Amino acid sequence: MNTKQPLDNLLPEIRRKALKRVDNRPPHELAASWSGDDLMYSGPGRSIFIVLPTPGCAWALAGSGGCSMCSYIADSPLEEVSSDALVDIFKREFQRQIQKCEITGPTAIKIFVSGSFLNEEEIPVEARRAIFKIINEYDDVEEVVVESRPEYINEEVLKDCCQLIPNKIFEVAMGLESANDDIRLHRINKGFTTEDFQKSMNIIKKLKTDFNVRAKVYLLVKPVLTSESEAIEDAVISAEYAEGVGVDRIAYCPSTIHKGTLMEVLWRRGSYQPPWIWSAIEIMRRVRNLVKIPVIMDTAGFGTRRGPFNCKKCNSKLKDAIIKSNIKQTIPEEFECECKVKWEADVEFSDVTRSTTNILKNH
Ligand code: SF4
Ligand SMILES: [Zn+2]
Repeated sequence: MNTKQPLDNLLPEIRRKALKRVDNRPPHELAASWSGDDLMYSGPGRSIFIVLPTPGCAWALAGSGGCSMCSYIADSPLEEVSSDALVDIFKREFQRQIQKCEITGPTAIKIFVSGSFLNEEEIPVEARRAIFKIINEYDDVEEVVVESRPEYINEEVLKDCCQLIPNKIFEVAMGLESANDDIRLHRINKGFTTEDFQKSMNIIKKLKTDFNVRAKVYLLVKPVLTSESEAIEDAVISAEYAEGVGVDRIAYCPSTIHKGTLMEVLWRRGSYQPPWIWSAIEIMRRVRNLVKIPVIMDTAGFGTRRGPFNCKKCNSKLKDAIIKSNIKQTIPEEFECECKVKWEADVEFSDVTRSTTNILKNH
């Protein structure tokens, strides 16, 4: 049986072209860090975010071409980075944040590697251990969050991490994106099934009896080839599913158009639009009544040309309402704007027209 899907041919080609355009930069130039208010398991606190340069996401570099919305590979040095170099970069970025604002009060450290922190080909085990030992010296750091694809999650690696930070929460964030296998495999090209995901959840759940380990998922709002109404439904159903299988926290990521992705190709051809901010509000309204675990809606890119967009009059007000809802975990407050009728029409008719663009939206 031929199971090849249309994206199987397109994605590797788009990725190859995008990688040719990447200016190779040395690893230390690709590192970044920042900090800000955040919601932690213990309540409002502060997060320090550190981006480490690694050889790049193994899935994006594989023949599959990686995920249809992601361009993180373009921010990777695409060469081996030694353990010593990674630890030095971590120390430098961490110190930079501590100097700006001392660590006092509940703090989380979130390490982003534009791929999988638990893949030893991306972050060598020596570097992982050295970084965790540094973090463990800070008592006010309550949580350490890393990202990983499910295939790198196993008992051994989780235990190793938890034992290095025994009094802290260790959270693994996975890009589940959608609970729907068809959407995840054929529109996002994520390359793992719900069954694969559940296997890693079972490992995390088993270890919870002895360790402070947690699971978070990212859910993508409006993948390519998805209408506005389908995007809302999928986001809500996926959150219910995630809670049902024992996920501890959810972060929604509404699509923004990354350079060099299939999403960008479709957007440039008028075949895709990121979601409305109204859709993000609608999802939060419904999800707050349905699930009990903490849910965050990422607002990066809101109101920009490549991100979720309403109209110039209400973009920033609705973004603020979502940020407030994230911190307090409350239903976003009621708001009206004249652009809302266009969104309503789009939600109502997008399935009839099978359109993934917003026909009435003009900006
Ligand atoms: S979304 Fe994650 S798994 Fe997919 S290509 Fe990007 S970094 Fe890799
Ligand atoms: Zn508006």
